[in-house]
Amino acid sequence: MFKNIACFLFALTLIFSCKAQNEVVLSKDNGTNTNATRLVVGIVVDQMRYDYLTRFYNKYGEGGFKRMMNEGFNCKNNHYNYVPTYTGPGHASVYTGTTPKYHGIIANDWYDKEIKKSVYCAGDDSVQSVGAVTEDGQMSPHRMKATTFSDENRLFTQMRGKTIGISIKDRGAILPAGHTANAAYWFYGKDKGYFITSTFYMTALPNWVNEFNNSKVAESYLKPWNTLFDISTYTESGSDLNDFEGTFKGKETATFPYDLGTLKDKNGGFDIIKTTAYGNSIVADFAIAALSGEQIGQDTDIDVLAVSFSSTDYVGHKFGVNSKEIEDTYIRLDKDLERLFNALDAKVGKGAYTVFLTADHAAVDVPAYLKSVKIPAGYVDTNSFKDKLSAFMLAKFGASDLVENISNNQIFLNRTQINKLDLDLDDVQEAIVNEIIGYEYIDKVYTATTINSTSFTEGIEALLQKGHNQKRSGDVLFVYDAAYISYSKTGSTHGSGFDYDTHVPLLFFGNGIKHGETFQKTEIIDVAPTMSALLGISFPNGAIGQPLEFVFR
Ligand SMILES: [Zn+2]
Repeated sequence: MFKNIACFLFALTLIFSCKAQNEVVLSKDNGTNTNATRLVVGIVVDQMRYDYLTRFYNKYGEGGFKRMMNEGFNCKNNHYNYVPTYTGPGHASVYTGTTPKYHGIIANDWYDKEIKKSVYCAGDDSVQSVGAVTEDGQMSPHRMKATTFSDENRLFTQMRGKTIGISIKDRGAILPAGHTANAAYWFYGKDKGYFITSTFYMTALPNWVNEFNNSKVAESYLKPWNTLFDISTYTESGSDLNDFEGTFKGKETATFPYDLGTLKDKNGGFDIIKTTAYGNSIVADFAIAALSGEQIGQDTDIDVLAVSFSSTDYVGHKFGVNSKEIEDTYIRLDKDLERLFNALDAKVGKGAYTVFLTADHAAVDVPAYLKSVKIPAGYVDTNSFKDKLSAFMLAKFGASDLVENISNNQIFLNRTQINKLDLDLDDVQEAIVNEIIGYEYIDKVYTATTINSTSFTEGIEALLQKGHNQKRSGDVLFVYDAAYISYSKTGSTHGSGFDYDTHVPLLFFGNGIKHGETFQKTEIIDVAPTMSALLGISFPNGAIGQPLEFVFR
């Protein structure tokens, strides 16, 4: 009898443990409990450093960044795994799960070897502007060689799941939305203050966008910009008046408040909004309007809403990462995120959507400021660099036209001239490496041949390799010393492989995501495979990242 009871209990345990296991397996097979997910919201914050989450933590409310951290999963050691760390490549890499080596977006602008002129990552002469009569609207993702996870979601749902991209910057809306997007909308300032698109997506703006534009939302932001809280409580940033910040034309000092109504005429009309915290607010307004306007997240076919906040980058470039302006911009962005999440709760439903938030790159502290506190930093004089290199080429090869272009820390050689003079391409590349490694502030130099023929697994060499597209990139790649930039003496910039440019936030929250955090290293190329795995759809066609399964519930 006792033996039978034991057997019975053992069988019961088996049944229950099998059932429990089955549930886990089942939910994983279904794409980790995506039955209720109707919408994926991808948020990219342009130029957001990881430490903005921690530095301004005490200033954030409960409904924005903290809601993501408290309810969702925080990958605290997330990095870009290639150079250059710019906006175009960043947005492409987040959504394709691969790097410039494969998706081909090697910079924002790059020298096109075939047509021998500079091209823009989202520029497309074959399409027209919709909403503004200018080249500002001649944009599409045609230069991006890979699919995004939003493209794969469109294919998976037989085009029933929608994709909408929204940003101040065209490239911030277009690249995430991918090739099959229903729409990408971006901000056109000047005398309009409108959101526009291109004929790549549609021939006329939908009614809801016209209504938004005509409601003069942009005009409502041409008001004084002052700090949200008393400026004396902004103890997490440098003093408001210092030598490290640029300012608006028509204002003597980079100090609060900024009267945008009077400053707008000398600063590009509505474009001034881009370089203030209000640029993020209008993007949040537009994204919230899109939820109803585009009927996003209203049925069982999963939609993707890609929102990119660009003003953080404009503010960082003008005022620097340690400014009061950047602190206020993040405090206000936190409020805009809260508004967006509240709207998602109301219109899509709590727990019926999944969000990720990351950045397209981070940024360096203003080198002049770093220098003032004894940290090695400074500025590179690119003109003297070019002059020295020209003189060398003339002396060594007797030709002044062998270097065709220098951009994005790469040197492009004139192949036709090299052949004509019967020179060896490798020899010319090597000679340049040996020459410029002796130049001031140049830390490392490599030939494209080395980068393409060696398999690097770590360090700057691996980052250069993953950012180097054999067909599109240059012949010689050089790296400046840490915190040395080719930029104005005020404000911050980015582009390098140093941690200050590569370390960005990665937060997941909502349906299918568990609460937690990790310092385990993750890479930006993991985001798209993670979203694909969550949705149970194909990975983007060039994806090389790993699904971060520890974030799944
Ligand atoms: Zn930037």
